[in-house]
Amino acid sequence: QVKGVTQRVHSPDQSRNDPLEDDVQAFLIDEDQLHTFDDLTKVNPVTPATVLKCLQARYSLKVFYTHAGCTLVALNPFQAIPDLYSVDVMKEYHYATQPQEFKPHIFIVAEEAYRNVQGQLEPVNQSLVVSGESGAGKTWTSRCLMKYYATVAASAQAVSSQDAVERIERRVLDSNPLMEAFGNACTLRNNNSSRFGKYIQLQMNRAQLLVGASVQTYLLEKTRVACQPANERNFHIFYQMMKGATDEQRTDWKMPQDQCFVWLPNCENQIEEDGFLETAEAMVHLGIDAERQRQIFRVLAGILQLGNVSFCSSTNESQPCDLDQVSEGTGELLGVPAEELCRCLRVRTLKAGKQNVLKPCSQAECGVRRDCLAKVIYGQLFEWLVTFINSCICADQSKWCNFIGVLDVYGFECFQINNLEQLCINYANEKLQQHFVAHYLRAQQEEYVSEGLEWSFIKYQDNQSCLDLLEGSPISVFSLLNEESRLNRASDSTALRGRLEKELGGNDNICWDKFSKVPHFTVAHYAGKVSYQLEGMVEKNKDPVPPELIGLLEKSDNLLLHEIFSDKETEIPHSKGLSRVTVISKFKNSLENLMKLLLTTAPHYTRCIKPNSDCRPLTFKNREVILQLEACGIVETIHISAAGFPIRCSFPPHTLVVRYFSKDELTPKLLPGVCRCDVSTQSDLSNSSQLDLLEDHRGKILSRCAFTIQCCWLRHQ
Ligand code: ADP
Ligand code: MG
Repeated sequence: QVKGVTQRVHSPDQSRNDPLEDDVQAFLIDEDQLHTFDDLTKVNPVTPATVLKCLQARYSLKVFYTHAGCTLVALNPFQAIPDLYSVDVMKEYHYATQPQEFKPHIFIVAEEAYRNVQGQLEPVNQSLVVSGESGAGKTWTSRCLMKYYATVAASAQAVSSQDAVERIERRVLDSNPLMEAFGNACTLRNNNSSRFGKYIQLQMNRAQLLVGASVQTYLLEKTRVACQPANERNFHIFYQMMKGATDEQRTDWKMPQDQCFVWLPNCENQIEEDGFLETAEAMVHLGIDAERQRQIFRVLAGILQLGNVSFCSSTNESQPCDLDQVSEGTGELLGVPAEELCRCLRVRTLKAGKQNVLKPCSQAECGVRRDCLAKVIYGQLFEWLVTFINSCICADQSKWCNFIGVLDVYGFECFQINNLEQLCINYANEKLQQHFVAHYLRAQQEEYVSEGLEWSFIKYQDNQSCLDLLEGSPISVFSLLNEESRLNRASDSTALRGRLEKELGGNDNICWDKFSKVPHFTVAHYAGKVSYQLEGMVEKNKDPVPPELIGLLEKSDNLLLHEIFSDKETEIPHSKGLSRVTVISKFKNSLENLMKLLLTTAPHYTRCIKPNSDCRPLTFKNREVILQLEACGIVETIHISAAGFPIRCSFPPHTLVVRYFSKDELTPKLLPGVCRCDVSTQSDLSNSSQLDLLEDHRGKILSRCAFTIQCCWLRHQ
C-alpha cells in the first residue's frame, strides 16, 4: 500500500482512554497469527500498539529477531539461547542462496553486508550500525557479527592449535575481551555496560577473506575510575585483578588480600572469576609480553592505591594539606618518587613571569588533583591499549581492499541527573539518527516523489534543528560551553544559564523549568526531552590536568607510563596551561570523522530493544518497549518500508516480477499492475529478449498513459 499508511485506526469504544488499548482493539489481524509476521511491514495497520503486540507475541515464543523493512529489530532474550548462534547456523545463512528467506536473524544482516561488500561494479564498504539503549544487546550483537565474519571469512582452516592462536581472526576476536575488561563496568542498567563507543572495521581482501581489523573508540567514561555512581562499579579490570591475581602478583602489586580500596565499591558481588584469566590470555594472544603486562598491572594497582590517598584540611592556609593517609606503594607502583608525588598533589605551581610561584591547595583541590591524575593515567592507558591492539590486528594497506564496519555506541541516555557525558552521548545519537533519516527515510520518500507516485508524507522528525541548537554556528550550546571553558576562571553556572537563555532562547528545542533553582537546560531530542545540569559541566569540558602531574609522569620509572606521557603527540596540555581542546571539541571532531566515514559506506541498521529494565529472561514490558520503539522512530521506519518497493536481485531460477503503476488518463489516480517474465539463467537479466518483454509491456502502457516501473524483485518459482 502506498497511500494512507500513516492513518491511525481508533477504537470505536472511545470511553477507554488508554491509547495503547485503543489501537489494539482496532487490530485487524487475527491475534493468533501475530507471531507469524517476520516483517513488521506486513502488519496492518502499522501503529505503535500493533507493532508492540506483534513483537510481544514473537518474544513469548522465543523469536527474537524481526525485520522492520530496512531495519532489523533484535529483542534481548536475557538468556543464552542454545544453538541460535552456532557455527552450523552461521553456515546455513552463509551458504543459503536466499538467506533473506530464512527466519530473521542477525546473520541475515551480516550475510547481506558480506555479499554487498564486493559490489558488482566496485567494492562498497559496509557499515552495520547497532543501536539501542544501555543493556539492549548492542555489544552482544557486535560480538556476534564479528564472530560471524571470523568464521565465514576465515582465511583457511587452522592447521594446528598454535596456528589457530596466531590467526588474525583469533586476534580480532581477542581484542573484545581485552577492551571490555578496560572499558566496561557493572552499572544499574547492565552488568557489562560498555563505557565507550567503538567502530571496528573488518578488513577484507579481494577474495573476501578477513585479513585484519582496526578499532576506533569514542569517549571513554574515565571519570568512573575515580568516582562511581551509587551502586555501580569501577571498570571490570580492577575487580578481575583483585579476584584473579596469584599471591606473587599481589605482592608485586602491593595489593594484600585483605586490603580495601575506596575506588572499588561493591567488590564482594558478582565478580567474574575467570575474567582475569581471559584478559591475561587475550593479552598474550595479542602479543603483550609478560613485562608489559606487569607494567600495565602495576599502573592499575597504583591507581587503586591513589584512590586511598586522602587529605586533612590545613589549619594554616599557607601550608599544604597534610596527607591523611597514603599507602607507601603508590609512588613505587607509578614509578615516581613518593615525596614528589605528594608535593604535586598538594602544591600548585603557578607561573608569574619567568618565576614559578608555589601555592598550597585546599583539601578539596587536593582531592580534585588526585582524581585528575587517576583519570588521565587511566584514559591514556586505555588509548595506548587501543593503539596497541590496532598495531597487531590492522592489516597492511596493500592487503585489503574493503571493509565491513561494526558500530557499537552508547544509546540515548536520560537519567535523573544528566551532565556533559549524557550531552555528548545524546548528541552522538542525534547524529546517527540524522544519518539514518537521511539514508533511508528521506531518500525513499524523495524517490517516490520523483517517480510521480501518489504519496502521503510520513511526518518523520527531522532533527536538524536540534543539531543546530547543539553544534550549529556561530552560536550553539557547544560554542557557548567551549567559550566558557576556554576562559581561565571558575565558571558560574547561573550566569551560564542566563547566557544560554539569552542567546538560544529562540530555539524551539531548548527550554527551562522556570521554577527550578538548579541551573540547567532542557533539550528536546528526537528521542525525548533531557534536562542537563550545568553545575560542573564546564569543568568537565575543560578536563584540566595539572601540568606538574604530567611532568611527573613523564619521568616515571614505569616504562609504559614513561612512554605514554613522553609521547610528543599526546594531546595532554604540557606546561602551557589550559588546552584549547575541550572534551566537546574533541568528541565532535571524532564524531564528524565517523559520520564522514559512514557516509562512504552502505549502512545496515539493527535496533536492539531491551524488553525489561530488570534484565529478566523472557519478560516483556509493554511500556518500556514502546518507549524504545518511539525513541528510535521504528514505526515511521516501518511505514516507509511498507510503502516501499525494495529491489532484490538474486540467482535463478526465478520469475521476475515487476510491479508498476500506470497513470489513468481520466482520473489523476495511479493504477497498480504486475507483469512477470521468466528468468531462468542469471544472464537472462541482461538478456535483451527478457528485457524487451518488459519494454514491450512498458511500450504498451506508455502508449496509453504515463508509466513508471516502481520496482522489481525476484522470487523462487
Ligand atoms: P548494550 O551493549 O546494548 O549495553 P549488551 O550487549 O552488553 O548491551 O547486553 C546486555 C546483556 O544482555 C548481555 O550481557 C547478555 O547477558 C544479554 N544479551 C544481549 N543480547 C543477547 C542475546 N542475543 N542472547 C542472549 N543474551 C543476550
Ligand atoms: Mg555495550
